Amino acid sequence: MIKVCKFGGTSLADGTTMLRVKEIVESDPARRYIVVSAPGKRFSADSKITDLLYQTARECKETGSVGEAYAKVSARFQSIVHELDLPLPICEILRRTAEDIERENDEDFTASRGEYLAGIVMASLLGAAFIDPRTVVKFKDGRLDPRSYILVREAVKGKRRAVVAGFYGEDENGKVRTLSRGGSDVSGAIVARAVMADEYENWTDVSGFLACDPHIVPSPAGIGTLTYRELRELSYMGANVLHSESMFPVREANIPIHIRNTFRPQDEGTRIVPESKYRLGERVVTGIAGKKNFTVVYMEKSLMNAEIGFTHKVLGVLTRHGISFEHLPSGIDTMSLVIDSEVLKDGELERVEEEIGREAHPDHIRAFGGVSLIAVVGEGMSRNVGTSARLFRAIAEAGVNVRMIDQGSSEINIIVGVDNENYERTVKAIYEEFFLASE
Ligand code: ASP
Repeated sequence: MIKVCKFGGTSLADGTTMLRVKEIVESDPARRYIVVSAPGKRFSADSKITDLLYQTARECKETGSVGEAYAKVSARFQSIVHELDLPLPICEILRRTAEDIERENDEDFTASRGEYLAGIVMASLLGAAFIDPRTVVKFKDGRLDPRSYILVREAVKGKRRAVVAGFYGEDENGKVRTLSRGGSDVSGAIVARAVMADEYENWTDVSGFLACDPHIVPSPAGIGTLTYRELRELSYMGANVLHSESMFPVREANIPIHIRNTFRPQDEGTRIVPESKYRLGERVVTGIAGKKNFTVVYMEKSLMNAEIGFTHKVLGVLTRHGISFEHLPSGIDTMSLVIDSEVLKDGELERVEEEIGREAHPDHIRAFGGVSLIAVVGEGMSRNVGTSARLFRAIAEAGVNVRMIDQGSSEINIIVGVDNENYERTVKAIYEEFFLASE
């Protein structure tokens, strides 16, 4: 049995939390490969090491040398090593790292040093080997080079335990490249896939996914098991416990992800499993997630269904403007484009409407903003008759007008659009219907 464990920033914020990590790792011999983030916040007004390093990169660009922000990074690592009483020449390591940062003077390189230093410290604490991902995680044309899986496997061979720094790797020109923010989750998945782990444990500061946003419904139910595709739907809609790209490497190999809480290791957490290993429980809906601020462009044209090329012309306008759309619900003679309002520049919506009118000649075209999308997700939905009837009755009883409906082809999600001001009320009504009402 092999487990790859990734620990997030709050699990590594200071010496005390690092000792918790050590305890967790050592309590299970299967926990052999550890992937670390950079130290996060110790309290809400604190700074994340990675944020301080981005600040360091800016200082370095301006002045050619590290400054105040790097002094804070150094102080934090010194205090961690001191607290843990580790035999590491930390001042020397930090001095050398500062020289490297000044020499490279590159944002990705600088940002990656949080994970690099955390990896060295954690390896020393666990008495494990440290693996610099520069040597094993390779990028080619901006994507992960599959050779990385072989390199990781070779690097850990024969090692009882190893610590790999998260968040970065090296490109084809030998330059350090970081993943997007929160990317250590992805690094953990890459390592899990490389060693063909039995499980990828992702240790964080919450006990897994909740059935909906706790700011809307106090203490919602936890989600014990999710499938990869349910995870994809929920995290796309803003349920962000895990980096949304982290499931891709492990999904290919059917490796389950287990989200766990470093501060409450007794909690069950959430298991994310392949669809094939999922057993339908009594719940129809697994979770509800949503986002505000979308714009809908609604079009009507008689006999749209029979017209060849209508959609092509409409999407051509979007392509020219470099706008991606999120959803495209359509009927026989109607079609809507759902666009994240943030991607629309000033006046662009009017230009898009005008160009669609000119090129695709709809009978009517109308755009409205201020729309929230709510995704109701569940493997059980495709097998249960009457789910949408229950959903829309609950929304109607809450007195909310539905502005748009989109059901994904996989039948595991229904997305409803409502006005922003009705967002919270709708989520609450759906939660009450599917999680609190007696079935
Ligand atoms: N330290 C990086 C960040 O703050 C990556 C990570 O924590 O996963 O985004």
